[in-house]
Amino acid sequence: MSASPSIAIAGGGIIGVSTAWRLAQRGFRVAVFDQGNMGGEASWAGAGMLALGGEIDEPSELARLAVESRRLYPAFIRELVETSGLAIDFQELGAIDLAYSAAELAALESRAAGQATMGIDSKPVLPAQVASFWPRVRTEGLLGARFYPGDGLVNPREVVVALCAVCRKLGVRFLQNCAVESVSDGGADVQITSADGVATFRAAVVAAGAWSGAIVVNPVPVPASFPVKGHLLGYQQPSQTCNTIIRHGHTYLMQRTNGFLIAGASVEHAGFDRHIDSQIAAQLAMAAGFVMPHLLETTPTETWVGFRPASEKLRLGRWQSSNVYLAYGHYRNGILLAPVTAERLAEEISADLGIG
Ligand SMILES: Cc1cc2nc3c(=O)[nH]c(=O)nc-3n(C[C@H](O)[C@H](O)[C@H](O)COP(=O)(O)OP(=O)(O)OC[C@H]3O[C@@H](n4cnc5c(N)ncnc54)[C@H](O)[C@@H]3O)c2cc1C
Repeated sequence: MSASPSIAIAGGGIIGVSTAWRLAQRGFRVAVFDQGNMGGEASWAGAGMLALGGEIDEPSELARLAVESRRLYPAFIRELVETSGLAIDFQELGAIDLAYSAAELAALESRAAGQATMGIDSKPVLPAQVASFWPRVRTEGLLGARFYPGDGLVNPREVVVALCAVCRKLGVRFLQNCAVESVSDGGADVQITSADGVATFRAAVVAAGAWSGAIVVNPVPVPASFPVKGHLLGYQQPSQTCNTIIRHGHTYLMQRTNGFLIAGASVEHAGFDRHIDSQIAAQLAMAAGFVMPHLLETTPTETWVGFRPASEKLRLGRWQSSNVYLAYGHYRNGILLAPVTAERLAEEISADLGIG
């Protein structure tokens, strides 16, 4: 009996590891290479909102994938928890968008009308209802709000830990601190050159987040990728301080079950600069404190940064009829898009290689 095809995955963030899981379930032999630790980059930094309401404005391929991935999430988490035996903080609690000016309210209403055509539901909320259900939220100057029942959140760090556990059970090999330098497509297979040497696989997936475009792929180079830096703040707060995700303009607040409240986020084109900028952190704290005034009297216990993986568009699928598949450019929504990305890729690779 011939061995099942082997797949190399360059990048062990939520995208690479969820794809490894789905491929291993279909019988592929999978190796995941990461230049650092599995899940140590954007998938560690990301807030973990599963927020169609906050992210999707108009119909597009990405919007359709996001809607599909949100639908897959409960079963994805259930299966992961059952097969790993590990807990994952996954909360389907909805989100509220706040408007403190007529222009903000008009923008919320017009966005909601467009979203309704894509199946993203929301309903108006009166300031008096905000005051009674969200008692910590500023109501002074509040003109209106919208509630999105379908928005939720997950702890992406726990998702990656659970994914690694279920992958190990299926024999997935993890190579940490092992950067992929190049991927050469030879027609029948691919050669991966990494810190571990040169190895041959049937196919490769480039899932290296913001670094994907820097991997040398022969003979046809893959499209560019670039980082969009984001700062986030964390506060230790009593549980139920945020009983839903709370948004105002570019500011969001959300709380993990353990009380850790996250406020974000900046959007910076600063390359791979890991420096924490105290001025940006102070601006985020002011914006969070505008929405929840009691936070102005509290100092964040953590500030961190991460690199959203951007590309001109989402890169998902086979690259130029080669044995190389792309899975990057998920930008602000890679946590949300992980289930659909993994399923789509595993399906496509299985169909191409005639397995599963
Ligand atoms: C501040 C912030 C807030 C966010 N909030 C949300 C949110 O609320 N909801 C949401 O859905 N998304 C959010 N995101 C986006 C989300 O985090 C990303 O889209 C997602 O984590 C991307 O996953 P990934 O696996 O593609 O990338 P990453 O997690 O960055 O993983 C890529 C991996 O590839 C490795 N790598 C790089 N180069 C190589 C190489 N040459 N060889 C081998 N390995 C390599 C890296 O070490 C890294 O581990 C946020 C991101 C940030 C920064």
